Amino acid sequence: MERVLLWLLSELMLLTCSSRIPVRTECIPHDLLQRIHSSQMNRTLGSLLVPFLLVLASANIPAHAASAKNQRLLIYSIDVEGGQATLLVSPSGASMLVDTGWPGSNGRDAERIETAMKDAGIHQIDKVLITHFHTDHVGGVPELVKRVKVGEFLDHGVNREDSDITRKDFAAYIAAIGNTPRHTLHPGDAIKVPGLDVIVVTADGEHVASVPGIKPEANPSCASEPKWTLDQSENPRSVGILVRFGKFSFLDLGDLTKPKELDLVCPNSPLGHVSLFLASHHGLDQSNSKSLVDSIHARAAIMNNGAHKGGSPTAWQSVSESVGAKNLFMLHTAEGSDTAHNSAEDMIANPRGDGEGHYFKVAADRDGSFTVTNTRTGATKKYPAD
Ligand SMILES: [Zn+2]
Repeated sequence: MERVLLWLLSELMLLTCSSRIPVRTECIPHDLLQRIHSSQMNRTLGSLLVPFLLVLASANIPAHAASAKNQRLLIYSIDVEGGQATLLVSPSGASMLVDTGWPGSNGRDAERIETAMKDAGIHQIDKVLITHFHTDHVGGVPELVKRVKVGEFLDHGVNREDSDITRKDFAAYIAAIGNTPRHTLHPGDAIKVPGLDVIVVTADGEHVASVPGIKPEANPSCASEPKWTLDQSENPRSVGILVRFGKFSFLDLGDLTKPKELDLVCPNSPLGHVSLFLASHHGLDQSNSKSLVDSIHARAAIMNNGAHKGGSPTAWQSVSESVGAKNLFMLHTAEGSDTAHNSAEDMIANPRGDGEGHYFKVAADRDGSFTVTNTRTGATKKYPAD
């Protein structure tokens, strides 16, 4: 009888074991292990039971724990159909979501964020960074906070755009976050995500002149760059971040537009070379200037375009030339473009129409190596340490 009780007890403990605990034996209470050992039960059975419990405990730990064990940074480029939602999960388990996708569609974008969270094995999001107050970035907040606990929100301050839709989205955001802490970011701020080095390079139209640990370099592309007109929308106010994890780096500038890109990287670029670039502004040609994409010299890029948003031919061309066509991943085929200005199908997560929300999962190591997995095909492209 005691054996049966012990067994039921151990099963119960495994069900309640925290999935964030990386050490398998810690999922079984020490006193339970001792009781199994010291009970009157057959010693052979006991010795079989303990390893079996450990296997069960191991099976209870989702994929993220393996990533934590491997000390890898995970980045999910979530498909929100032409908006942004990018989830970063440090090996420490700390998390930051950059933008939340669109409102509506029965909570589609929050659901897709939850799918990525599940894969990463996290149950809350420590920080949500809103790059700017356009609906395809901030619109998903009300639905997200209904489903997911958020530690704090970060953004560039107040809405700067004189339009009813953006005023409405900003108000909905402020109302939805309620008492959750909210902080304003400035260029040069370090965002505390344990295990990662995250620095704000642009915010509210301002930018850094240098980044600690990176020597600014003259940018030869600036001389031939056309003059671009500054738009008065929220886009040039975007918070941009540079994330460093050992030798690996990731650049996400939200929807920053060309005049502000040039302010940032001309005549000297403070960004250095990056491993992975999230093509700005869903691959629209208002962004992704040659001066930016050539100076950062990314090894790979992900374009968070929709089937009918972003993926402009000229922007695709610029990014593709900077990283090579075989290193430009797209969330969708840009259906308004042509074959010559779309990546090959195996580089696209959702090749036809809106698709089913397939996403890219990036796993990076401190030595600078990383992989990009297309969750539609399961194929993984490897980038060795450089
Ligand atoms: Zn956008």
